[in-house]
Amino acid sequence: MKASQFFISTLKEAPADAEVVSHKLMMRAGMIKRLGAGIYNYMPMGLRVIRKVEAIIREEMNRAGAVELLMPVVQPAELWQETGRFDKMGPELMRVKDRHDRDFVIQPTSEEVVTDIARQELRSYKQLPKNFYHIQTKFRDERRPRFGVMRGREFTMKDAYSFDRDVPAATLSYQTMFDAYKRIFDRFGLQYRAVAADTGAIGGEISHEFQVIAETGEDAIVYCPGSDFAANIELAEGVPLLSQRAGATQALAKTATPGKSTCADVAMLLGLPLAQTVKSLVLATDELDERGDIKKTTVWLLLLRGDHDLNEVKTSKVEGLKAGFRFATVAEIEDHFGCKPGYLGPIGLKKPVKVIADRTVARMADFVCGANEPDFHLTGVNWGRDLPEPDVVADIRNVVEGDPSPDGQGVLAIQRGIEVGHVFLLGTKYSKDMNATFLDETGKPQLMVMGCYGIGVTRILGAAIEQNHDERGIIWPAAIAPFQVAICPIGYDRSVEVKAAADALHQELLDAGMDVILDDRGERPGAMFADWELIGVPQRVVISDRGLKEGALEVQGRREAEASKVAPAEVGAFVK
Ligand code: ATP
Ligand code: MG
Ligand code: MG
Ligand code: MG
Repeated sequence: MKASQFFISTLKEAPADAEVVSHKLMMRAGMIKRLGAGIYNYMPMGLRVIRKVEAIIREEMNRAGAVELLMPVVQPAELWQETGRFDKMGPELMRVKDRHDRDFVIQPTSEEVVTDIARQELRSYKQLPKNFYHIQTKFRDERRPRFGVMRGREFTMKDAYSFDRDVPAATLSYQTMFDAYKRIFDRFGLQYRAVAADTGAIGGEISHEFQVIAETGEDAIVYCPGSDFAANIELAEGVPLLSQRAGATQALAKTATPGKSTCADVAMLLGLPLAQTVKSLVLATDELDERGDIKKTTVWLLLLRGDHDLNEVKTSKVEGLKAGFRFATVAEIEDHFGCKPGYLGPIGLKKPVKVIADRTVARMADFVCGANEPDFHLTGVNWGRDLPEPDVVADIRNVVEGDPSPDGQGVLAIQRGIEVGHVFLLGTKYSKDMNATFLDETGKPQLMVMGCYGIGVTRILGAAIEQNHDERGIIWPAAIAPFQVAICPIGYDRSVEVKAAADALHQELLDAGMDVILDDRGERPGAMFADWELIGVPQRVVISDRGLKEGALEVQGRREAEASKVAPAEVGAFVK
């Protein structure tokens, strides 16, 4: 590619509305151009990066066995009414009408449409598992679009949806995607962290976010450097503060039936998170005074050990829990609640419940709790689906660096991150609403168990720059740079030797399959170098008469302080 043919449009100053460095640099480097609030043209230089991001995602999704299709941007409202999201979703969902006054949505995500495909196409257990994905334009009417492509209203997302016959199979699909995401973000060359996350508006049972570590990130992550404990602090949103659950005990007394109710019932009544993990269970009770105010709150933490068998329920001491928590034995639980502890279904990742700081319980994920005895325990209780939103919002900002990690493996640290990917184990949330069933071996219809998996393709650009830049501009990780090498001849238009050497190297690198751009614009060296540093191309090769006389070209990595002198014949191998 020659720079004169390509389109390069750099700016000295960033527009005033650009708040963060990635937005500023993308505008200055001519990668994006604003069309409206949160709506951008992807200019040729930026589009090259987007295409590279997409290519890596596509390769890894295909490798993981997912199948690409393409679902429409404009989707009939009927499907969204089937799941109730047409009304529930609020103003972020862009609703439009056609000439016949029929409702449509501009897709913010595609669960409804893909579930519609699945219920028509996946009829038999023999067709499962299946994972469909697409890379498609999304629209979310964000309350506060900002930071350029990081929080756009129109943006590109890769979204994948898995369909399985049961929860264990779906958990495997989830794990496969989780692993694929690790490969994808490793290949991008970004520093990231996978953290436990809230399932939010999408709903579901287990969820992780992939967070690119950056000071300017909108999310805060609590993690333990000594272990794999990591969670988005956002998790705590919507988790009731125990001390404010006035009335819970009365409700419990009214509704819980001694000998009949399970811990799951109790947890629901208390509006408490019953951890999805098979390892633990949190319950709490309030003691009220005559006026109905809370006198005392007790949190009960039960750790299930071994093979998730109720008989193996044991109490255990977790290091680092603060005063106010205590551990109950099964007998105590039975005694206190007049019921047996509930059985937690066989889903869940390896993490134990997170109890973070005094009086605050961080919800790790939604859960499914089944029953171990029919007609005795509740069955199919699905936290987060049938329950109203908790009325009190807690946060865990009272966690400070150095607090003990809930897993007892060290102390907590906090850092900021940018959510670039999000995986959910959905369960049957959508298949139930839309009646997406398949026939099992006995010919009986069964609900498909789903997962969904998103990556913010365009947000990746912003996140990569937040993490990789200096005062001169962007420093693209090699795998997603718009060009790998910029050839910068000094005097291309007046020195026959320089032109010949530059053209020859350009051709050689093209033949070697490299993404190379030859700057033939005739810019002065200072301006030319500044452009490529701003654009963030990883390697620059300077060709000058003086260098050629010495038999050397100057090759400089974007992060390097000085150039290396390399013989022209060896440059190809050097920049590879
Ligand atoms: P956020 O918390 O930042 O609003 P989200 O949780 O609403 O994101 P998801 O529904 O999980 O987003 O969508 C999957 C991915 O799409 C996100 O992980 C993110 O990378 C990307 N994404 C979401 N909203 C935007 C947006 N407004 N602009 C660009 N990318 C976005
Ligand atoms: Mg959002
Ligand atoms: Mg989020
Ligand atoms: Mg998310």
